[in-house]
Amino acid sequence: MWWKEPVTSLKGIGVKKAAELAELNIATVGDLLEYYPRQGAYLDYANLKKIKDLLTDGSKQIFKAEVCQVRNGYGSSRRAYTLVTVRDETGYAGLYFFASQRYKAQKLALGMQLLITGRVRQGRTAKSVSEVDVQSVGAEETKTPGILPVYALSGNLSQNNLRKWMAEALKLAAKELPESLPEAIVKKEALPDRLTALRNIHFPASWEALREAKRRFVFEELFLLQCGLLYYRQQSRDQREGVKHGADGALLRQVREHLPFELTEQQQKAWQEISLDMQDKRPMHRILQGDVGSGKTVISALALAKAAENGYQGCIMAPTEILAAQHYDTLREFLQPAGLRVALLTGGMRAKARRELLLNLELGLIDVLVGTHALLEEDVRFAHLSLTVTDEQHRFGVEQRARLANKSQIAPDVLVMTATPIPRTLALTVYGDLDISLMKGRPPGRKPVQTLCYNESRRREVYEGLVRQLQAGRQAYVVCPLIEQSETLRVRSAENVYEELRGGALKNIPCALLHGRLKGAEKEAIMADFAAGKIKALVSTTVIEVGVNVPNATLMIVENAERFGLAQLHQLRGRVGRGDKQSYCVLLAGTDSPEALARLQVLHDSEDGFYLAEKDLEQRGVGQLFGLRQHGLPDLRIADIMRDTDTIVQVRRLAQQELAKPNGRQELRRMVDMQFGERFGMIFNT
Ligand code: ADP
Ligand code: MG
Repeated sequence: MWWKEPVTSLKGIGVKKAAELAELNIATVGDLLEYYPRQGAYLDYANLKKIKDLLTDGSKQIFKAEVCQVRNGYGSSRRAYTLVTVRDETGYAGLYFFASQRYKAQKLALGMQLLITGRVRQGRTAKSVSEVDVQSVGAEETKTPGILPVYALSGNLSQNNLRKWMAEALKLAAKELPESLPEAIVKKEALPDRLTALRNIHFPASWEALREAKRRFVFEELFLLQCGLLYYRQQSRDQREGVKHGADGALLRQVREHLPFELTEQQQKAWQEISLDMQDKRPMHRILQGDVGSGKTVISALALAKAAENGYQGCIMAPTEILAAQHYDTLREFLQPAGLRVALLTGGMRAKARRELLLNLELGLIDVLVGTHALLEEDVRFAHLSLTVTDEQHRFGVEQRARLANKSQIAPDVLVMTATPIPRTLALTVYGDLDISLMKGRPPGRKPVQTLCYNESRRREVYEGLVRQLQAGRQAYVVCPLIEQSETLRVRSAENVYEELRGGALKNIPCALLHGRLKGAEKEAIMADFAAGKIKALVSTTVIEVGVNVPNATLMIVENAERFGLAQLHQLRGRVGRGDKQSYCVLLAGTDSPEALARLQVLHDSEDGFYLAEKDLEQRGVGQLFGLRQHGLPDLRIADIMRDTDTIVQVRRLAQQELAKPNGRQELRRMVDMQFGERFGMIFNT
């Protein structure tokens, strides 16, 4: 199979070029062909303009011309530039290269034929071109009219290199190329066949052909991803039996009666769904999505109690020690009165205590085990585990979750709790057919957090407000993007802010510095002191992002707020407003950029984490927010989760139909393996 051969099997690719291709994640000839041109980056060679016909409205245009002069000069305020004069038979144009762009001009020599893109305006004597991109045009290329691809490059690779190799690889594809989608679907959706689409995505016959090729690959990518998710999920459901828990009994009633509050309607509904799942023989795969402060912990407590009521053990894994310790306290409060035995396992435990705990766990003397990823260690063995809960799941990869679930002979029920609202489109892509329980809003009696966005000029006022809150007996967080001062970034670091506050506004007020580089025990001690009110102000990095609950904290100041995503800021903001007092979140922007301030303003306007997460996706793209890879999934090459929502919904339905067909499963398996290889299966086959 030629597509599995290394790229060196192509003419013209040696070890050195192969290494450069490897940087682009291209190892095989198949990888190469799937390396699509940059989004929208094609040169319309068929419609090259003459210099005389170039519009001078500042729009980006493409033309071909010959270099006739290269000269360096200084512009206003002594800005260095290089001016390259080019000509064709209709006239002259000047290409301007400024500052860091000047290297592009260095390679140019008199007489070179160039393909030029840039913004064209009318200069004093000739047309001037800025934001210039040039490519020297080889003799054979001048003869090929049409649309040429532009690839993202690495090392010393050139566009010509890639174009030549693509053409070679396409020749191989012409001889043999299996269809990757079911024929019936290709036909019904009127998609171009795979070979035609491959040809047109690299060397489009027309813009229309290119559009069709893209449509096909977006469809293919999303469809096969969905097939993979469905196939392996189904597989895992068939492999191990789950536990059929009984209906809620006396113990659960007792736990519920002892709760210090009534469940809200949203909580009741979520609990109902989880409870029914647990009573089903099929293992539960449910994600509980609840905005920060929506009260997810108590739901996990009920689920854990239910496991115990049925004679099984349950565990809950949190991403940080601070959070695990907090869960431990809360769960003890909820569950111990009903006689349940709750234990805490962390990385920093002493050997003797740990041994004892593990022994008790294996003997079944512990009902609920709370911990960090320390739970994943080989020697953590349960007597009979029937429920795993992971909190704040975006911190854990798919593989870690799977490792936890594998700690049981039977397939345990899996509950994943997340405060990161996952937009529906992403949930469909990443979680396939995982069931979702939603809790919107918060328990009653909690005032919304007032959010204010300021720039540097208001810092003094903001600090005065901080002092006022502390004097009134409240507590505050000051969050910074970095621990230490960075040489390159002009950002206020936690260390700097801490020193500054201690020497100034917060003189004589107990405060502390908290960041991820402190040892677990140190962090815990600081958090404990803060929770107990001994520390009034906590200067920290985003380590406090997840979960900690200090109701007396009523103010959060975020330094350089422009450096955070909206969803993350919302998450941070969730640390305040946890009591009955009015709380405030002040976003201090280290910039005056109107766009940055407008972006932050969205937080002032909305407290809906789901809305904010969607906004964040729009603004920053999926890659920034949750890389698919972080979830153990392959990166998408061409599909876009925000743009292609409709396709996602459509292919999901189609994939389900395929799966339901006789032989559907083998067929899906074949297609998925062909596309993603075995790695994908390894991750999902749990
Ligand atoms: P999160 O969903 O962010 O994990 P928590 O479970 O930490 O939220 O709950 C936030 C706070 O709300 C806690 O102090 C908890 O005791 C409280 N709480 C949860 N449910 C209710 C309820 N039904 N009524 C009143 N307070 C509640
Ligand atoms: Mg929580």
